[in-house]
Amino acid sequence: MSLEGRVALVTGGSRGIGRAIVETLAADGARVAFVYHSNEAAAQEVVQQVESGGGECRAIQADVRSHDAAVGIIEELAEQWERVDILVNNAGIIRDGLLALMEPDAWDAVISTNLTSVYNFCQAATRQMMSQRYGRIINMSSVAASTANPGQANYAASKGGVEGFTRCIATELARRGITVNAVAPGFIETDMTEAVVSAAGADLRKRIPVRRLGKPEDIAHAVRFLAQEESSYITGQVLTVDGGLTLGGF
Ligand code: NAP
Repeated sequence: MSLEGRVALVTGGSRGIGRAIVETLAADGARVAFVYHSNEAAAQEVVQQVESGGGECRAIQADVRSHDAAVGIIEELAEQWERVDILVNNAGIIRDGLLALMEPDAWDAVISTNLTSVYNFCQAATRQMMSQRYGRIINMSSVAASTANPGQANYAASKGGVEGFTRCIATELARRGITVNAVAPGFIETDMTEAVVSAAGADLRKRIPVRRLGKPEDIAHAVRFLAQEESSYITGQVLTVDGGLTLGGF
């Protein structure tokens, strides 16, 4: 198990992509803590699933928009498990709407949940990672960062921000043994995309060269790859995992 002895923190680990990441990292031998916001039942189910497979897992209720919460979680984790090796900033939301109708709270909610949270947890975790001279940070972006969907200006801005932030801090942290990369999923079947998928399922598949929607596990495998010690020469990159959606030509 290649992540044996490693400690990982995943935000938004109670459902969808985050849940698959928690389970995949734990199956590889990492001790995994994850943050969830309000769905306690879903969070406990993930803990039980990991523990029933012999893994170690903790669910932490918090709001990723809070800097204080991020600092407290990293301090507690470093004290309890002695290290923080892998940080996956995955928590995210959508609040779609055309610009003319987009209320300030829809803008603020998406930017603070998807982008400010990444600053919060990266800043808190890198203090610990620098003292270890080791870290793997993976930030969840989206193909929306580099394409254009009407009604997603707030979401695209947040994910574009995540990619720029990732590149900048990758250069700051490279000499400390810390890599920072982003993963950009296409359409993945989760609660977040349920409405879009049920409205446009067949048409959506026709636009994807591999002719299927992604599964949370497809993203978890990419995260696991970047989380390995052996991925030390990859930093500041965005790994697109979209079944060829953004290649065009279909
Ligand atoms: P999801 O199924 O809606 O799950 C979202 C997760 O984030 C849940 O665990 C939720 O916790 C947590 N969360 C939301 N707001 C939070 C907050 N303020 N504080 C703490 N936790 C919070 O989403 P998903 O589809 O798996 O998406 C995961 C990530 O992938 C997001 O960053 C998303 O933008 C990105 N992404 C998804 C797709 C896709 O097709 N699904 C495509 C591209 C990118 P609770 O369970 O407590 O609510």
